[in-house]
Order: sequence, then structure tokens, then C-alpha cells
Amino acid sequence: MDKMYLSEDIPNFEEFIINASKRLNIDEDTLENGFKRKLITKYEYNGKKYLCFKKKLKHIERGTILFLNDNLDFIQGYPKIRRAMVLESAVEKYFDNKIAVEEKLDGYNIRIVKFYGEIIAITRGGKICPFTTKKVKKYMNTKFLDDFPELMLCGEMVGLNNPYVSHYYPEADKNHENLGFYIFDIRNKETNSAISISEKEKLLDKYDIPYVKPIKIIDSSDFEELWNLLDDLNEKHREGVVLKDLKMIKNPIKYTTHNTQCGDLSVAFKYVYDLGIDFMFSRLVREGYQSFEKCENEEEIKKRSHDLGESILTPMVETIKEISKDGLAKECFELYFDSEDDFNEFINYLKTMHINFAIETREYIKKDVFKAKICRIYNSTSNKIKSHLEGNLW
Ligand code: ATP
Repeated sequence: MDKMYLSEDIPNFEEFIINASKRLNIDEDTLENGFKRKLITKYEYNGKKYLCFKKKLKHIERGTILFLNDNLDFIQGYPKIRRAMVLESAVEKYFDNKIAVEEKLDGYNIRIVKFYGEIIAITRGGKICPFTTKKVKKYMNTKFLDDFPELMLCGEMVGLNNPYVSHYYPEADKNHENLGFYIFDIRNKETNSAISISEKEKLLDKYDIPYVKPIKIIDSSDFEELWNLLDDLNEKHREGVVLKDLKMIKNPIKYTTHNTQCGDLSVAFKYVYDLGIDFMFSRLVREGYQSFEKCENEEEIKKRSHDLGESILTPMVETIKEISKDGLAKECFELYFDSEDDFNEFINYLKTMHINFAIETREYIKKDVFKAKICRIYNSTSNKIKSHLEGNLW
């Protein structure tokens, strides 16, 4: 087999495959095949080279990173949470006894570990993000990781002022930025086994780390309460719930609200040719099952249909209008850094991730506060709409 395709990336590739397969407990062929199919790629952070698993390979989760050091240290990706389509049937099938109903926060997934004395924050996809790492170091008490180096803190970074998912959370207001971080699981870095709900709460309270507190512990057959909690979240425009076995042995299940489905569709159709197709089908199907399960009458179905139609059409027309004026579909984020150097480091990171972006503004607004407006450019949406506006045919 020709292994030249990796010889520049990883010296002694064959030896590496033997060692890494032992370390990860995965067979050599699967690992090698992962490289061949470009599912495993190399990145660098602060001089440390690491591999990122872009897809799940056997028990190695998507988003796993493996450092190219002597020990081949690795951190497992956060496991996929499967979705209930028909809530009551799924809960009945997967749980018995009591369950923790945790709020599902709408931000981005982060794993925090201490790696040879240094705090790092890893995104869902398996990249060490300099922006998030800096914020975690600044705002979070990380002593926990000194005491438990084999564990990782898994959580959601939420708020307006982050580069990935911009969504306002009133509880996340800080001095000048809306950014908060809430842990939802404590897991072993290598095995991914999670600590029970009560132990997690005890530890996070002790170390004064903010976390997603269960909204309520309920009996898994108490559907009336479960729907009450969901209706309340829906009214407050909050995303949904993650249902967890108290011992964290069974896999959690997620379920999202009607307003979340509508919100997702709005984003999808704002950037219609970049996100529309992937987002649309799954969100619409969720609404079909939800309407059925709630035994909606004609009027309620009409209202749901209206909401869905509005979520799709309004943002799309807005985007067409914007492109007819400015020619670009873009999503802008206002970010705060401690210095211009931190800003530059993040910009370099975006470049290495091949993200298409433009910097709209950047300036020191105070001595240690550097503010920047960075816009992600959606090329397919911009180009296709522009082309149709110029009269080109479908
Ligand atoms: P995946 O399920 O693979 O993560 P996805 O993009 O479909 O992919 P989501 O629909 O956002 O993921 O749901 C799962 C994500 O929900 C988790 O990865 C996590 O970041 C987030 N999340 C928010 N709140 C919680 C919580 N309380 N417990 C667990 N996960 C949560």
C-alpha cells in the first residue's frame, strides 16, 4: 500500500499506526483507512501537533483529538445525543425510573481539559479554539482539572459574543460581553464514561463551576410534567431538553421545542443555498411528529403551519433584498479580546480552518478590551441569488 500520502505529515507513519492503534484500542486497518479517506487530519496549537478525527471511527468519536507526543495523549469526542421524534414513545422505550430533565442550551459544545499544565478548550469537531480557550481561562475556575486530570468538563458556551452560535442568554451578561459557559457532563477523557448527575452537581458546586442544573428530576412515566416543562421552555424561546439517566449509564436523549425548529429554519433560509437543504427536512419532520403527538386540532395545525411558513419565507426574502443591495450574505459576530494579539491569533485560526470571513471593524474600546466585528460570508447563497437577480435561469 502506498503510504507516501502521509509521509510528510507524520514521520515513521507505519510505526505510528502500530502505536496509535494500541493506544486507541482500534485495529490498524481502520486507522490507516481513516487517514486514507482524510477523516483524520493534522493541526497545530501553540506548537503542539495533534490529529483530529472528523468522523466517528468505531468507538473513536467524531471530534476526538490525539496529540503527536510520545504518550499519544488523546481526548475523546463528545458522543452524539440521539433525538426523540415521538417523545413519549422514545422515553418509554429508553428509560425507566427517574430521569433528569436538563435544559438544552443553544450554543456550542466545548470540552475543557488540562494538558501538561495548560488549559485547552476543544470544539465539537475537534479543534483547539484559541478564542474559547482564552475565555475559559479568564472566566472559569479550573482548579477542578488540577485535582482530576483524567477528567474533562463538557459544556456549552452560549451568548451573543462568540464566533459560532450567537444567541442572547440574559444570564450570560458580563461587563461588556454576553458570553457564558455551563458544564453539562463530567467525563473521563479517554473512556468517555460520565459521572452520575448527583456526583456531578456535588463536584461542580464544590469547585464553583457554573453548570446546567436539572430543571427537575421526574419519573420517566410523568409525561404531563415533561410536556409542561417543554411548553414553558417553548414560551421562553429556549431550545429544549436533554433527558438523562441519573446514573448516566444509559445514553441521553434530546428533544427540541417548536420555537427552536422555527428559529433553525429562519437561519437555514437566511443562508438558503448554504444551509437550507440540510436543515429543512429534519426540522419539518420534527414538527410533523410534534403536531401529531400533541393531538393538535385544525386551528393549532394552521397556527403551526403559519409559523413554519413565516420562518422560511421572511428571512429568505430579507436575504434576497440584502443581496440585491450589498451583494453578500453574511453573518456577523461581535467579539471581545483582551488584546490585539489575541485577536490576531484567532484570525490565524480561522484562516487555518478555511473559513470564509471578513473583518468589518476592529479597535481598542478600552485599555484591555479589543472589539472586533467579524462576518462569515456565505458564498453559495451570495453567488446564486446574485446570479438569479441578474436574470440567469435555474
Ligand atoms: P450531536 O448530537 O452529534 O452533538 P447536533 O449538532 O445534532 O450533533 P445538537 O442537536 O445541538 O447536536 O444536540 C447535541 C448537543 O447539545 C450537544 O453536543 C451539546 O453541545 C448540546 N447541549 C446543550 N445542552 C446540553 C445538556 N444539558 N446536556 C448535553 N448536551 C447539551
